[in-house]
Amino acid sequence: MGLKNLPSVDEVLRDSKIAEKEAHFSRELVVNEIRRILGNLREEIIQKDVVIDRELARDKVVQEVLKNLGRLRTGTLRQVLNGTGVVLHTNLGRAPLVAEAFDHSLELAKNYTNLELDLDTGKRGSRYYHLESMILKITGAEAALVVNNNAAAVLLVLNTLARDKEVIVSRGQLVEIGGSFRIPEIMSISGATLVEAGTTNKTYISDFAENITENTAALLAVHTSNYRIVGFSQEVALDELVRLGRSRDLPVVQDLGSGSLLDLSAWGLEYEPTVTECLQFGVDVVTFSGDKLLGGPQAGIIVGKRSLIEKMKKNHLLRALRVDKMTIAALESTLRCYIDGNPHQTVPVLEMLTYSTSDLEDKANQLGTLIQDVLRDWEGEYSIRVVETQDKVGGGAYPLQVLPGFGVEIQFDFDPEVLARQLRLQEPAILLRIQEGALLLSVRTLRGNEVEVIPGLLLEALRETVN
Ligand SMILES: *Cc1c(COP(=O)(O)O)cnc(C)c1O
Repeated sequence: MGLKNLPSVDEVLRDSKIAEKEAHFSRELVVNEIRRILGNLREEIIQKDVVIDRELARDKVVQEVLKNLGRLRTGTLRQVLNGTGVVLHTNLGRAPLVAEAFDHSLELAKNYTNLELDLDTGKRGSRYYHLESMILKITGAEAALVVNNNAAAVLLVLNTLARDKEVIVSRGQLVEIGGSFRIPEIMSISGATLVEAGTTNKTYISDFAENITENTAALLAVHTSNYRIVGFSQEVALDELVRLGRSRDLPVVQDLGSGSLLDLSAWGLEYEPTVTECLQFGVDVVTFSGDKLLGGPQAGIIVGKRSLIEKMKKNHLLRALRVDKMTIAALESTLRCYIDGNPHQTVPVLEMLTYSTSDLEDKANQLGTLIQDVLRDWEGEYSIRVVETQDKVGGGAYPLQVLPGFGVEIQFDFDPEVLARQLRLQEPAILLRIQEGALLLSVRTLRGNEVEVIPGLLLEALRETVN
């Protein structure tokens, strides 16, 4: 048994770096953390039945305690420089906000606001009042409601319109988004019964019509955000679905997922109907995310017929899905970019999607030169070049679309995974792709002065990897 080589709490406390920590934390907290880590190590030794060197054990405990205490002070959420070229990266918190949106929400968050106060009458107001007029202006909808995210939006719509009733969906549109949002599951949580129409590859309007019964409450169209069915396939067109809904007096609901407010085909992206166009087709209720192509904070936006949205506002479930003042403030500032015009120049997500390739090439050349400059101080072998990249929209939008971009490829004579990990552990962290044994940094998703910050971080990470 290797337990005899476990350090004592006092031995760990005597480490000079640990002693320094006592300036920020109580002795009790530090001692508790040391005990916890020692306990974990003891378990590990017993389970693996190994002998551990005395010095090594002490260092391991000290490092772990320092790391955990550090996190207690800084928290664990940190800035990541996104070198992946994936604009809407769900793991990276989707849309980076318009700087103004952040300033505005922070200012409001620090103070009291009229979140639920009608300043005119002095009486109780509604938090849902704030964003509505802006959303109506931008989308042309009759009414709007903002909730926690698009999953919540779909849940609220289904629960309000179809609880204990049936909703018909095409088999080709039973999507799963990011592992946790699945149409059949959300349907069952909402209390509605899913009725599948058609087959995986082909659904006709007659498949919907044949499944309508007296229990049917709505027809649902779901955007196949992260996949496409190609080849021998058939989807029901939105206008056909609307016509059927009208003739049978059933609301047509569309989960649009990303829900662009802007037609991006002018910048070379595939054509996708905008929220406004879906409403113009006659869809009764459309839901979409605030932090995908819209480029705002996490939110779910519901737009459509006033009579239906009024019912949703009265649903008690809304209380559990409601948005916070920070979200309202940030969304307000983001939407203002659309009202002011030229959102592709002011909303970061849209800016990144609409860069010209020549701008991207210039930026990649700049990054390449800066990296080469710092690598003069590096003794090891490497090769570096500016390359074309295949960037992505991400976030479950435009799954097949490749955005031609530029980046810097760097190859070292050791395992790139080790360096990639070290880069993730820098402050700020750097996330990039590994392609054919080389590191690949796409510049599309690097913002502000990040191109100037990366070379120094890379050199630091390299030194830490080799040591
Ligand atoms: C992304 C997406 C959702 C989930 O939206 P969240 O805002 O992440 O809750 C639901 N449906 C579709 C079609 C989507 O693309």
